[in-house]
Amino acid sequence: MQDERVKNEKMRDDLGRRIEYLRVSVTDKCNLRCQYCMPPEGVEQIPHRELLTLEELSRIIAVCAELGVRRVRFTGGEPLVRKNLEKLVEEVSAIQGVEEVLLTTNGVLLSQCLPALLRAGLSGVNISLDTLKESVFRGLTGRDGLGNVLRAIEESAASGLRTKINCVPCREWNEPELEEIAALAVRLPVDVRFIELMPMGCGKRFHGIPTGEVLERLEAEYGPAQPLPGEHKRGYGPADYVAFEGFRGRIGFISPMSHKFCGECNRIRLTAEGRLKLCLHYDRGLELKPFIRGGAADEEICGAILDAVRQKPGEHDFERELREHTKGADERRMVQIGG
Ligand code: SAM
Ligand code: SF4
Repeated sequence: MQDERVKNEKMRDDLGRRIEYLRVSVTDKCNLRCQYCMPPEGVEQIPHRELLTLEELSRIIAVCAELGVRRVRFTGGEPLVRKNLEKLVEEVSAIQGVEEVLLTTNGVLLSQCLPALLRAGLSGVNISLDTLKESVFRGLTGRDGLGNVLRAIEESAASGLRTKINCVPCREWNEPELEEIAALAVRLPVDVRFIELMPMGCGKRFHGIPTGEVLERLEAEYGPAQPLPGEHKRGYGPADYVAFEGFRGRIGFISPMSHKFCGECNRIRLTAEGRLKLCLHYDRGLELKPFIRGGAADEEICGAILDAVRQKPGEHDFERELREHTKGADERRMVQIGG
């Protein structure tokens, strides 16, 4: 029977890419309305019964860990609006094989959740920060809350938790501020990463600033970027890091548009309603809820995941997406997928 083979098999796709990183969206709800991610009226909410429970999420993650997943990142929507997230962090931290449990958050609720998350064993946090100006924050996200985010960054860094800042450079809102945002890594022991805007969903309406241009501007302000050796240059994910003199943290660039990293992609995604997505760009995936709620044994779920992962698309095609609508592209907003 096919399920016999799964016991010691690790996830690998047909191109030989080993899958070790799982991003889990725990909710499609969000307390912000970032214009490039979510429409102002919000998105149609997943009915509560369709959301995977924390137990169901934990079970799928455990199955993926058996298949070789070593890192799990919780995202959303805004993961901190999901009740009892710290319980899930604690459970997943205890799963054999899982080495890191991470979180990507907009930071608005982080201060109040941080002590419980630290107790639960969180390994690191990425905090999204696109502006240091209250008025730009309000215009971009439709809400107040920049003060909370900045406080959370300070507290997270002070707690010793590995803290990274994610910033999406964009002509329409933060073009004048990029040097100042990078300078957070002067004062604090945090890495600041600039992520190229992807033309997905609402992102198509705006103009991202390419990595090359951001780097040039930072070098004009802070002097030449210094290359980093070995594992400090490349994160576990797609970021390329450099150092600037006098900075405590590194500066990273994630460049899905100008430097595709699909050949090294090691990740898959699980949506809040239980779809295993093989590539951010494409709709293709495996619905796991029918297995989970239909009484399937772990071996059967393992077999289905291994089969699905083999068909992971070779690369995203955002360039074509910009010219014409790509067949099979995921039309959902980033808030529904988890970034
Ligand atoms: N709400 C959390 C947050 O904002 O960090 C987690 C979910 S959010 C979808 C994850 C990341 O995706 C954020 O850093 C956000 O800036 C980024 N993002 C959203 N839409 C994007 C797009 N079109 N291109 C690039 N990054 C995007
Ligand atoms: Fe903004 Fe994250 Fe919410 Fe999207 S999910 S609207 S990026 S805070």
